[in-house]
Amino acid sequence: MSKSKSAVLSCDNFSWDGVEKKIYKTETDNFRDIHRYTLLGDEHSELNSETRYFEIQPDGYSSLEYHRHPHSVVIIRGSGSVILNDELHSIQSFDVVYIGPETIHQFHADNGEELGFICVVDRYRDRPSIPDDDQIRNTIRSEKILKKIRK
Ligand code: MN
Repeated sequence: MSKSKSAVLSCDNFSWDGVEKKIYKTETDNFRDIHRYTLLGDEHSELNSETRYFEIQPDGYSSLEYHRHPHSVVIIRGSGSVILNDELHSIQSFDVVYIGPETIHQFHADNGEELGFICVVDRYRDRPSIPDDDQIRNTIRSEKILKKIRK
């Protein structure tokens, strides 16, 4: 396997040299106003992980999903909230979020500003699943969170 050259990706106002702003996902459409920036991806295949930046515009949200692989997330812009199974947490810049395996999760930019975060994941990982109504009912008891989720 060839090794990619060491590099610095300079950042100017949440835009990185040579990194394209892309739509969040192509397989599903259960999200709103979110974009994906792959900072370290396929061109650095010697890394066991991928480093991405996601940005959600005010009132947007990521897809409600779960999967076996865990997520490591660091908020670097704005604030909002995250649903982790039956818990709802407020989050703001520089907070760190760990999303364990099989946790139903969704990020919301619900604090009147964008929510931007770095997310590091294994390069080889399972595809996200969308919870069905039974799984949601069995996992999430909080009425507040049931009202908040978007699917
Ligand atoms: Mn996920």
